[in-house]
Amino acid sequence: MARKFFVGGNWKCNGTAEEVKKIVTTLNEAEVPSEDVVEVVVSPPFVFLTLVKSLLRSDFHVAAQNCWVRKGGAFTGEISAEMLVNLGIPWVIIGHSERRALLNESNEFVGDKVAYAVSQGVKVIACIGETLEQREPGSTPIAEKVTNWENVVLAYEPVWAIGTGKVATPAQAQEVHCELRKWLNDNVNSEVAASTRIIYGGSVNGANCNELAAQPDVDGFLVGGASLKISDVLSFIVPL
Ligand code: PGA
Repeated sequence: MARKFFVGGNWKCNGTAEEVKKIVTTLNEAEVPSEDVVEVVVSPPFVFLTLVKSLLRSDFHVAAQNCWVRKGGAFTGEISAEMLVNLGIPWVIIGHSERRALLNESNEFVGDKVAYAVSQGVKVIACIGETLEQREPGSTPIAEKVTNWENVVLAYEPVWAIGTGKVATPAQAQEVHCELRKWLNDNVNSEVAASTRIIYGGSVNGANCNELAAQPDVDGFLVGGASLKISDVLSFIVPL
């Protein structure tokens, strides 16, 4: 089954309104394959979501970097999936390793968040971690709680590769992505295994993206630092 290449830009907690506008201008001027070939999603901090959405070309989409685990209410500082729907924000990143490490988000909590966002109609980039032990328990609550996989992209992000400049080799990425697909086959079903996009994140840039994209089980990227660099921002949008 053909899986549409997926490129996500995770801007993390960076940028001013002016800087954000500059990146959007660059993206808007890009000559890229049609939306049928590659799906491009950028994830600014919450405060810039509506600004980016209002300026970004209509064939690219916007993702929040987090949302609350259930319906909104008395949860100071949180943003609910319902609010994202209300603002027309179609995607959210959930379970990023920075939140797991710094804010103690557990596998169970991440699984609940993914399931709740999907249940509200928000598509999810679900991040999972590094070692086999971390990857499998990381995937298990997601697999147990999610019933509609059409709206989930799995992002494999080895912690040691995030923001370090140490990218996984194409062979390492392929090996893990292939294992994850097998895991989906054994723990969910064969259709989900064949159709779910598994993207790689961790020090992806314009220089290393083509070799990674050439791997049969690498269906795209989640790019952090390089997605903020005007000089790099277009290079990973065009798959081989
Ligand atoms: P990086 O970040 O590309 O800066 O390594 C990736 C991510 O954290 O999603």
